[in-house]
Amino acid sequence: MPPEKASFAEFAAADASELAEMDTLGMAAALEMAEEAVRSGEVPVGAVILDTTGRVIGRGFNRCISDHDPTGHAEIVALRDAASRVGNYRLPGLALYVTLEPCIMCMGALLHARLARVVFGASDPKTGACGSVLDVPSYRQLNHHTTVVGGVMGEECATRLQDFFRERRRAAKAARQAQREIQQNG
Ligand code: ZN
Repeated sequence: MPPEKASFAEFAAADASELAEMDTLGMAAALEMAEEAVRSGEVPVGAVILDTTGRVIGRGFNRCISDHDPTGHAEIVALRDAASRVGNYRLPGLALYVTLEPCIMCMGALLHARLARVVFGASDPKTGACGSVLDVPSYRQLNHHTTVVGGVMGEECATRLQDFFRERRRAAKAARQAQREIQQNG
């Protein structure tokens, strides 16, 4: 058992490979949460919040459709879970892993929570606020608590989303085809 690190900054300074290992672990857990989203009929985005020992403090997946909630993104759900568990609206010293680049709403919430690290997988060219559409982390005035890292298991995370949308298009096409056949035969 390696000695416990007090902070993610200490981690990064002491042993980059150990931190990379934790990042892979965190992203794999976030991908598992993305599967939960699919089971609920949601777009597969998952998030987990870990402490420096790798313990899961919060978890979440997309819940917008099931909760009729435009704020029901995986990151927000995970933040609420972690904050209620630790009994604090600030989560310094913790790291959030999410399979897709956070949007501007989530980036705002993540900065308010004062997380130590935010690690995302795939980039989001449509709403990404960590460099794709906007680059919130580059505003140093906003962002003196949180280190943002992207592209961890990026290919796996992107592939999961692409597979989901391909399958959804295929299912929609099959449904249209079945509808046409009913109309023609009926
Ligand atoms: Zn979001």
